[in-house]
Amino acid sequence: MTGNITLTMIKPLAVKQGFAGPILARINDAGFRIIAMKYMRLSEAQAKAFYDVHRERPFYQDLVKSMTSGPIVAAILEKENAVEAYRALIGPTDPAKAPEGSIRRQFGVSIEANAVHGSDSDENAIIESNFFFSQLERFID
Ligand code: GDP
Repeated sequence: MTGNITLTMIKPLAVKQGFAGPILARINDAGFRIIAMKYMRLSEAQAKAFYDVHRERPFYQDLVKSMTSGPIVAAILEKENAVEAYRALIGPTDPAKAPEGSIRRQFGVSIEANAVHGSDSDENAIIESNFFFSQLERFID
């Protein structure tokens, strides 16, 4: 499995704007298979833990606040070379710099409210998948 999964979150503002369905359709159309998914609201402690790597950054508090402002959709996506393929589909962090047709360009509002999260390495894909999902919550052929 290593190298074939990535973890995504559809962020609270995108969910609030009604983009969960359209974003999942884009993910599906791009050939990713959803092997786990949940609709939940992160607690402050969970959001802080998830973004702990950014705790010294100036935007950390705002990021935690926005990520706990409403429900997210979290999912493990499977595809060959999933991390790279998904980051190509979503585009860079800032929607204004994301290419036409990318998910962040289409659905993102700002560098913070950029519609979706995508793991940045195979190692983090595994750590982040374990953060959200037990083995029993995964559906692998
Ligand atoms: P990603 O891997 O593209 O999601 O980007 P990072 O890991 O660098 O940052 C994590 C998240 O923090 C991003 O998805 C944004 O929601 C937020 N973020 C990153 N950089 C900034 C910034 O300069 N300002 C603000 N307000 N939020 C940021």
